Amino acid sequence: MRSGKRCASWGFTGLPYPEAYGGGGGSWVCFAIVLEELARIDCAVANSIMANSTVASLITNFGTHAQKEQYLRPILDGRKIGCIGLTEPNAGSDAAGLQTRAVETENGWIVNGSKIFISNSGTDVTGPVVIAAITGKKPDGRNEISNFIMPHGTPGFTYGAS
Ligand SMILES: Cc1cc2nc3c(=O)[nH]c(=O)nc-3n(C[C@H](O)[C@H](O)[C@H](O)COP(=O)(O)OP(=O)(O)OC[C@H]3O[C@@H](n4cnc5c(N)ncnc54)[C@H](O)[C@@H]3O)c2cc1C
Repeated sequence: MRSGKRCASWGFTGLPYPEAYGGGGGSWVCFAIVLEELARIDCAVANSIMANSTVASLITNFGTHAQKEQYLRPILDGRKIGCIGLTEPNAGSDAAGLQTRAVETENGWIVNGSKIFISNSGTDVTGPVVIAAITGKKPDGRNEISNFIMPHGTPGFTYGAS
């Protein structure tokens, strides 16, 4: 069994998330201990579960009920694994410097840009990719940054070489 699937079977992928969506309803302290212990053996596995958790947190806190059913449940129970697309060729530590932009049109949102170093992306179990993009300016002149759930099969959404 793949390590990710095994982690899911032990309830690690959904540990601190709501039971209503297939999570374990556990504590964040418990989840932190699990990640520490996984990282002691294999940082890549811990990082994979952590990246999945970042997506789970965004959808838990800001998603609609329908988005939670469609995108959250499968990444909590381990059928899929989520990706968080923040880093870009020119925006790493300085996340505010990202250049991907999203514009709303009559037919929905158009997102333009590219990301790098995205854990869990481009695999046969990759689920939702949550992508950060600039959607406007705040009153103080700083960029307004929003997150978009980018499902597999979105027209124009492609993976580069890893
Ligand atoms: C294993 C792994 C998994 C990752 N997974 C993801 C993912 O799932 N999603 C995602 O979006 N990104 C992911 N990343 C990317 C990661 O978030 C970036 O690598 C990180 O933000 C640093 O950006 P950078 O590599 O461009 O380095 P830079 O930001 O260019 O930094 C280079 C060096 O300069 C230093 N530095 C930067 N700014 C300052 C400053 N102001 N003052 C002093 N020193 C500074 C840094 O400490 C570092 O040593 C992953 C990276 C790794 C290694």
